[in-house]
Amino acid sequence: MRLGLFGLPGAGKGTQAQKIAQKWVIPHISTGDIFRELQKGNTTLAKEIRGILARGELVSDDMVTKIAFDRLANEDCKRGFVLDGFPRTLNQARALEASPFSLDVLLVIDVAKAEIVKRLSSRRVCGHCHSVYSGEDGQDLIGNLCPKDGHILIQRPDDMPEAVAIRLELFERNFSPIMDFYQSLGRLCRIDGQGPVDTVFERIRKVIGQLNERPKRDK
Ligand code: AMP
Repeated sequence: MRLGLFGLPGAGKGTQAQKIAQKWVIPHISTGDIFRELQKGNTTLAKEIRGILARGELVSDDMVTKIAFDRLANEDCKRGFVLDGFPRTLNQARALEASPFSLDVLLVIDVAKAEIVKRLSSRRVCGHCHSVYSGEDGQDLIGNLCPKDGHILIQRPDDMPEAVAIRLELFERNFSPIMDFYQSLGRLCRIDGQGPVDTVFERIRKVIGQLNERPKRDK
């Protein structure tokens, strides 16, 4: 199963991707997590990526596509994968679909913008394992420790209001072209991303169940 998750920042892609990866035993590949690792250190590349991420801008299509394809070529992706945060532009979507890693479905997680702004401002992440905690289940978690590995929880610089505004704007610009592209391929599926994490996961589980019953596409 080759699944892509698409949705506004804060729609729950990371959380749901982790659950999908666990249930279907496939790797969760988050280009955002890859860049958060790459930005550590003092190299020119690390500094450049750090700046792009902190401003809420997008990494170039060429760079992200190369990094994603390198990762997807790994042995552990042979049985499938769940992609989180890629593709994010029409160029990336076209490159992915022309590659050996084309998706079975792009799953769009729909959440209203007002809800997104609320979620992002209260979101905290583990600086080490990248687990995400929302304000609802984590309330005022800043300075607290990750229940999974004991590392400190932080607010991502790109969850600050100025960066959030840029990220939402970039997402909206790329939204329709990507949706239209996958719709034209007959491989788009939208699910309601509002409500508790487990309710949203149940909706995704149903979609994946139907997908697995469909005859396999010729590659
Ligand atoms: P995310 O955690 O998916 O919100 O990604 C964090 C940041 O990584 C984004 O704001 C971008 O700067 C960068 N990034 C992640 N995925 C992509 C992508 N597919 N295209 C361009 N930039 C990306």
